[in-house]
Amino acid sequence: MSSGATGEQVESVIEKVHSFGLRTHPIYGVQKTVIGIIGDEKTRVVENMQGLPGVESIIPILQPYKFAGREAHPDPTVIDVGGVKIGGVDVAVIAGPCAVESEEQLMEIAPSVKKSGARVLRGGAYKPRTSPYSFQGLGEEALKLLARARDETGLPVITEVTDPRNVELVSTYADILQVGARNMQNFVLLTEVGKSGHPVMLKRGPSATVKDLLLAAEYMIIEGNSDVILCERGITTFETNTRNTLDLSAVPVIKQLSHLPVVVDPSHSTGRSFLVEPMSLAAVAAGADGIMVEVHPDPDSALCDGPQALTLQQFDSMMVKLRAIASIIGRGA
Ligand code: PEP
Ligand code: MN
Repeated sequence: MSSGATGEQVESVIEKVHSFGLRTHPIYGVQKTVIGIIGDEKTRVVENMQGLPGVESIIPILQPYKFAGREAHPDPTVIDVGGVKIGGVDVAVIAGPCAVESEEQLMEIAPSVKKSGARVLRGGAYKPRTSPYSFQGLGEEALKLLARARDETGLPVITEVTDPRNVELVSTYADILQVGARNMQNFVLLTEVGKSGHPVMLKRGPSATVKDLLLAAEYMIIEGNSDVILCERGITTFETNTRNTLDLSAVPVIKQLSHLPVVVDPSHSTGRSFLVEPMSLAAVAAGADGIMVEVHPDPDSALCDGPQALTLQQFDSMMVKLRAIASIIGRGA
């Protein structure tokens, strides 16, 4: 729509599109409104709407990810989670244990990471483990503990949902739903999470291209949920020194192709605690909108992913350096 288009003109164009039996996805920008029209070749019927009042132009979107791409949505998306902005000027740091293990563990971690500068608390309740014999997470009990930690600290919480049947349950406790790397192409789960209306963090699959990741995000956005955060968490390569290979160039690549915020996970990408600080600093320098870091008061006794966990002290000292790097590129943290 042209920048001077009125609300009524926008509404009447939307009604007209619906009368053709097509779905719309309006994007209300600062300068102008873009009405996304979803469909196939039949969508060409809209071409004769060119003359309608307020219509500036009708442009086919060439990027395969119609709504995750920058073509239809040039302005960056900023997601507000309980007052914490992800995708804005400040780098949002997400920290917490791989898995919620007990009340004592979570209540020691949550206030400590908050004091160090974390803005969101993470904690796994349903753990997707490679072995069925490994600790699988405390389930709903962990969700209740996360909600209590939020009440005590004010930090919004993020936790993974692994099963479409649990989306409603997890949504009642969590502020951000996480779709794990192994589930990036679980399209039933993506659709359910999209319908939940909750902000989502979608992790890149270990063997997924950036294009695959953006198309997976598209599954959620077409359900009406545009609050999608993308997470680079390392990909599978032949290298064995690290658990995965952190693809840091994916950060500026995604930011060029998409308006969605990008978070880097230095923990799962490296699998080794001594690499977490350097990769976190590099991620911020590369333009990441946030990082997600695993911390544990006693990594040696962690039930999950101890070798990659930072201690509370290590996290605190990393945050000092991270803020310094952020300020060089004009951001806070
Ligand atoms: C996690 O963040 O808890 C996790 C399991 O990560 P990923 O899905 O990236 O392996
Ligand atoms: Mn983990």
